[in-house]
Parts: sequence; C-alpha cells; structure tokens
Amino acid sequence: MKTISILIPAYNEAPVLDQLMTRLGNLAQEVKNYDFEFLFVNDGSKDATLEIIKGFADIDPRVSYINLSRNFGKEIGMIAGLDHVTGDATVVIDADLQDPPELIPEMIKLWEEGYDDVYAKRRSREGETALKKFTSRMYYKTLQSVTRIPIQEDTGDFRLLDRRVVEALKEFRESQRNTKAMFSWVGFHKKEILYDRDPRAAGETKWNYIKLVELAIDGITSFTTAPLRIATYAGIIVSLLAFLYLIFLVIRTAILGTDLAGYPSMMAVILFLGGVQLLSLGIIGEYVGRIFNETKQRPLYLIEEYHNGKTPKKARRKN
Ligand code: UDP
Ligand code: MG
Repeated sequence: MKTISILIPAYNEAPVLDQLMTRLGNLAQEVKNYDFEFLFVNDGSKDATLEIIKGFADIDPRVSYINLSRNFGKEIGMIAGLDHVTGDATVVIDADLQDPPELIPEMIKLWEEGYDDVYAKRRSREGETALKKFTSRMYYKTLQSVTRIPIQEDTGDFRLLDRRVVEALKEFRESQRNTKAMFSWVGFHKKEILYDRDPRAAGETKWNYIKLVELAIDGITSFTTAPLRIATYAGIIVSLLAFLYLIFLVIRTAILGTDLAGYPSMMAVILFLGGVQLLSLGIIGEYVGRIFNETKQRPLYLIEEYHNGKTPKKARRKN
C-alpha cells in the first residue's frame, strides 16, 4: 500500500487542532487504499499545541511530530517536515483548515494519473480588500515579467508532492527560503485544481502587512537578480542624460555667457540622483545580505524531539 504523508506546520494552533484531526481522520476513512502519516511540525508554539499533538500521537500511530527548538517560521517548518516525511506522496496543508482536507482525494487521483505537483489554486479571494487584490495581481505580473520560470498565481503551499519533488526540494538548503519560488523552480508535471479558500477555523493569522512586504521582497530576490540590472540601466540612462545636459550647458555658456540662476533645478537633480543612488545601494544590500546569511552555513533548524508514530512503542527512548 502506498503511504500519503500529510505535513502540517503548526504555530500556536491549539484552538483548531481537534477539528483538524477529526477532518483528517474522516479523510483517511474515505480514502481506503492508502496508508496515512500525519506529520505535525510544532514550530515553537507558545500555547498547548505540542501537548495536543502528543495526545494525538499517544493514541494514533499515524501521527508523527517534530518539535522544533524554537519558532523558525513556516518556510523552515516545511523543510523540517519534508526532511522527515516517509510517504510516497506528501500533502502540505495549513493547520487552520483554510485548506480543506476534502480536496486531498482529488489530488491523490491526479497524482495517480502521473502528476508530480498537484497544487490548489484559490478560485476567489473573498474577504480581501480591493487594494490587496490589486497589489497582489501587480506583484505576480511584475515578477513573471522578469523571470523565465512560470509562476503560479494565487496558490499557496497547499499541494500534493510526489516523492521525487520532495527529494528535489530537500536539496535546497538555503536559509532564506521562499518555498513558492522553489515549487516553481523544480518544475516536473504540475496540475492545478481550483478551490475556495475558507476563512480560518479558529485562532488568528500570523501575517501582517510588514511581513507581507518582506515576503514580497524575498520572493523577488529569490527568483531573480533583475533589480540589480534595473539599477544598472537606471544608472546608464541618468548618466547619459546628465552628459547630454553637460554638453548643452557648455555650448550655452560659450554662446550666452554664465549666469548663476538655477539653484532649484540643481537641488532637484541632486536630490533625485541621491535617491536613485540610495535605492540602488539598498537593492545591492539586499543581495549582499542574502550572501552573508547563506555563507554562514548554519543548520536550517534544530529539532528538540522527533516522534515517529510507526516506530514500535518499546523501541522509543523514554524521557
Ligand atoms: N505557521 C508556522 N510558523 C509560523 C507561522 C505560521 O508554522 O511562524 C503555520 C501556521 O500554524 C499555519 C500556516 O503556517 O498552519 C499558515 O499560517 P497562517 O494561517 O497564520 O497564515 P495565513 O493563512 O494567514 O497566510
Ligand atoms: Mg491561515
């Protein structure tokens, strides 16, 4: 029998876990010809998340868990999970039930048809402001225009991955992870299915606008170095214009003599160029910072405890 691993990164999700477990249990009942592994990654939760997961694991051998040594963020939580899943296919799903587990049977069906990466695409973005929809649209458009890798719009991390995609993703050991960019990068046979994203079942989102902006910058810098080139082009254009202006000034002075007016325009030019320079430095800094972080070669995460539900009880270390 093939095994499907369900990978669930969880950070302060105590209020929803019972509901999640019930729905996953129902799913496993419904999909008969497969074994299931429910791998929870507790990402340094400050509430009862870990205790609840341990409670599940005590009575259900399908439940495994990883307890990370602190909060590392969802991206790192996912790679920690991918490093430990045992299934022939892995479904990454949010703990908050925004990704309906009821979609998983369809994903499995498509996987059996030969697709390696079956991802769920949001049909609607209800409950989001027009501004958020617009900015997200523009963001995807811009990103797509600067990279050759096809980018999946309106998709999150909710997807089924074949073993070979998991193995491919495990090769990515960069510490500043943008998993979405990686899903796109690895390629393989992709298939989308549409769904309506539910509101969070309970608890609250860990995102805010600042984090979203950071995610957006991460997305760009992990996909492409185009901003560096844009800075170069801007530099070339501005210098060229400045040079033409210089020639014009020399000729004008030769014909008409000097005049000292023009302080405001001078100020404008200096300020504008100063701004462009600072922006370019900032862009370069983003990439240099990334190089700095990657060269440290730190481990991506530390595990405080790994419990594999399939290991027989007596083989387990007591603590
Ligand atoms: N998550 C995590 N570590 C974090 C933040 C979030 O593992 O530091 C998990 C969280 O428990 C949930 C998923 O990532 O399962 C998505 O988080 P959230 O629902 O807050 O994001 P949103 O759905 O609002 O984008
Ligand atoms: Mg959510």
